[in-house]
Amino acid sequence: MHPTTYKAKAYSAGSATSPLVSTNINRREPTERDVQIEILFCGICHSDLHSVRNEWSEFMATNYPIVPGHEIVGRVTKVGSAVTKYKPGDLAAVGCMVNSDGTCAHCKAGLEQFCPNMILTFNSPDKHLGGFTYGGYSDSIVVDERFVLRVPSNLKLAGAAPLLCAGITTYSPMRHWGVGKGKKVGVVGLGGLGHMAVKFAHAFGAHVVVFTTSPHKKEDALRLGADEVVVSRNADEMKKHEGSFDFILDAVSADHDVNAYLNLLGVNGNLTLVGAPAEPLDVPAFSLIVRRRSFSGSMIGGIAETQEMLDFCGAHNITADVEVIPIQKVNEAYERLLKSDVKYRFSIDMASLKSE
Ligand code: NAP
Ligand code: ZN
Repeated sequence: MHPTTYKAKAYSAGSATSPLVSTNINRREPTERDVQIEILFCGICHSDLHSVRNEWSEFMATNYPIVPGHEIVGRVTKVGSAVTKYKPGDLAAVGCMVNSDGTCAHCKAGLEQFCPNMILTFNSPDKHLGGFTYGGYSDSIVVDERFVLRVPSNLKLAGAAPLLCAGITTYSPMRHWGVGKGKKVGVVGLGGLGHMAVKFAHAFGAHVVVFTTSPHKKEDALRLGADEVVVSRNADEMKKHEGSFDFILDAVSADHDVNAYLNLLGVNGNLTLVGAPAEPLDVPAFSLIVRRRSFSGSMIGGIAETQEMLDFCGAHNITADVEVIPIQKVNEAYERLLKSDVKYRFSIDMASLKSE
């Protein structure tokens, strides 16, 4: 039986070539284990744009209409009868996932992101209402309490929202690969993910080098915590770092020469890709074998680790640097993302949806 529903305001796109426009969507009334959240801020991730424009059609085709958004913070408005961790009035957050089976080996290991039955916040089958899940460009959302996170009360909400994707996606691989004191760490691409990676790598005590295609971001990179900044189009500057890195995080959203960065890794160095350009990347064998280098990927992070990351941010007062926009500017924001023109995350003030 389908649960009862209510209407929520949202922004959705009807096709890969349509803009996002105001709409009404159905949300379920909270069932036993659900938490209903009034969304206050939602970050804009480049993945929202890839999905809206169906750029990942080969791996994860988009179902329309799509309501993107997976960097959600807000206030609890209602809870189901079996909910124990949240009550109305609490601050709460939701990231990229809203469910998983909870029983597989990955879920048991706290790696819900790899569960074969994981449900993404948007564009995944909605087992409650049929159709597909709708994300955070909306005035409310209803989520199983296992996938609701706590926001430390000292963090500004607009800047806390991006932690739910840009934060955990950079925190998790750096923890996994042991980024810390004595390590030389590169961050490629100073966008939403990249600027969080710089903040975390700096907080973990590493020597941080930012690689950017945008020379005007140099000062910001240093302010965010970089020790050095390399303009990656400058071959001489790149050459100086050859064979010297322990770890590099690549957070670039578009096609680029990943080999240029593999060559900067030292013996046993690792390059982890979190950026997800649609086109395949060229990787010559010799770039890896000569120094026992490794090339890997990483996808967001599990729920427990996401809470750990939020608590770390609370303790170190870390949030994203955001440009707060009303939802009416979302299409313009997407065009600016494509020009690498964001400092360093757009965060949508969802109060702007009330006038729609
Ligand atoms: P973003 O804010 O748009 O940042 C991307 C940055 O990449 C830009 O600011 C720019 O930095 C650099 N860049 C853009 N085009 C480039 C080009 N042609 N050549 C070289 N550098 C270029 O995007 P984001 O939200 O941080 O997301 C980055 C990527 O990560 C996206 O592909 C997104 O889908 C993916 N992602 C993956 C996960 C995961 O779980 N693995 C999670 C979230 C997002 P500079 O100006 O400094 O060069
Ligand atoms: Zn994201």
